[in-house]
Amino acid sequence: MRIILLGAPGAGKGTIAKMLTDYDRSVQISTGDILRGAVKAGTELGKKAQGYMERGELVPDSLIMDIMESRLQEPDCKKGFILDGFPRTIPQADALKKLLQKLNLKLDLVVNLDVPRPVILDRLTTRRTCSNSACQEIYNVKSKPPTAEGKCKKCGSPVVQRADETEEAITKRLETYNEKTAPLIQYYQQEGALKNVSSTSSDEIFTSIKAALKGK
Ligand code: ADP
Repeated sequence: MRIILLGAPGAGKGTIAKMLTDYDRSVQISTGDILRGAVKAGTELGKKAQGYMERGELVPDSLIMDIMESRLQEPDCKKGFILDGFPRTIPQADALKKLLQKLNLKLDLVVNLDVPRPVILDRLTTRRTCSNSACQEIYNVKSKPPTAEGKCKKCGSPVVQRADETEEAITKRLETYNEKTAPLIQYYQQEGALKNVSSTSSDEIFTSIKAALKGK
């Protein structure tokens, strides 16, 4: 299947994407993960993206489309893909539409994870991430803590707070989301592809996405 996950930072896109890829063996494509990997590796892309990311601003559309144009043509995408954190702007959504036409691919579903703002704020300030870029397991100091030593339960690497998870950057990311990304909800609603899910339980969200896919 080919799915887009929409939702504010902290809405749970990454968690749901992982559940979906385990379920149908498609690949998760997270532009955030790709960019963080590039920053860590110190590549040209990483150098260009770092400042925007640390300030909680969006990376320019042209950089993102360069990444996605090649990523979607990699062989593992033949099994289907879950787009997590992309598209993030109307120009990205327009460019994606053209790219999918060119590759002769059709989307199955666009899911909007609609989570109340207080829940989002609480999650973002308590979220921690495994520092190993090949793992990136997500933790939460309240609901899913790492080991007592602050290590990842899966790979043993230190679990850290992301550089863009300071209060200032979080506020900026939520503003950016409202201004640039929230308009995509209406965009995909008009295309007739949107499924709105307003639960905060990942199991419930997963169940309703599976039900929506069965109706396809
Ligand atoms: P979150 O959804 O929690 O904000 P992500 O990991 O998806 O986190 O993204 C982290 C940062 O990477 C964003 O704040 C932004 O700077 C950059 N980024 C990720 N995806 C995109 C995208 N599609 N377009 C522009 N910038 C992006």
